[in-house]
Amino acid sequence: MRLATTRAEVRDWSAAVRAAGGRVGFVPTMGFLHRGHTSLVEIARGNATHTVLSIFVNPLQFGVGEDFDRYPRDLERDLRIAREAGVDLVFAPSTAEMYPDGEPWVAVVPERGADRLCGRSRPGHFRGVLTVVAKLFGIVSPDVAVFGRKDFQQLVLIRRMVDDLQMPIDILGGPIVREPDGLALSSRNRYLSDDERLKALGLVGALRECVRLFEAGARSAETYLAALHKSEEVGVSLDYAEVVDPLTLEPVSVVTDGTVCAIAAWVGATRLIDNIVLGTDPLP
Ligand code: AMP
Repeated sequence: MRLATTRAEVRDWSAAVRAAGGRVGFVPTMGFLHRGHTSLVEIARGNATHTVLSIFVNPLQFGVGEDFDRYPRDLERDLRIAREAGVDLVFAPSTAEMYPDGEPWVAVVPERGADRLCGRSRPGHFRGVLTVVAKLFGIVSPDVAVFGRKDFQQLVLIRRMVDDLQMPIDILGGPIVREPDGLALSSRNRYLSDDERLKALGLVGALRECVRLFEAGARSAETYLAALHKSEEVGVSLDYAEVVDPLTLEPVSVVTDGTVCAIAAWVGATRLIDNIVLGTDPLP
């Protein structure tokens, strides 16, 4: 496995792979890798001959007062995990390598779908995400890129960006990887105390209740919203609970196959997100 820290190294490597008839798969991350990330590597490896994983804690997607400074970082550990997962190239650039002029001259700003869910409480977040992902796509030139369904709104907006800006890249979504007790894996879980971790399971319980309601035939979104709000009883503070269309992110009043229940909550000082698709996911 190779480690690259400059854009030029990655461009050359990717061009060589393609010149030899290979196909580049790409998994962008902010590091502190876990099984959620390696599951995406597995999908990338199944859809490409060579796999690139990027590790970059992108300052542009963090708001004032968010956890950019204390976000967990451990490159040595990440390199070990990436190697074991079968990654061919890790791209771990510095902030100066990614933003040589500081604040970018040009950014990718979502016109729709970013004013709700996570976008409402994190203004500018998706501008930061789309800008860095577009830039990484320009550096890596992947044939296929894989994102987790855990960050559902992010996945939808990246699909829209690739479509609207006609980027020739296939986007695949990986399923949410969970702990045995159901908690979705997240680099931010390491902020949780034992007590907070127990409370965080309230989110999983609420989403599971939504699946039960769907299987029992409930179709009014109100019923699902009530179930999601019940998670507050365990002492988490809801940021949002929404029942939305998986393609437009618009709230629905009637739940159908593919509808997504999405939730974000503060557990102590940690903000966690999770979601579940009711029935079948309409996208790859
Ligand atoms: P992050 O490092 O948190 O920015 O995440 C990098 C990628 O991994 C994103 O596409 C996330 O959606 C994905 N990811 C994070 N956690 C999980 C998880 N528990 N299951 C599946 N994908 C995940």
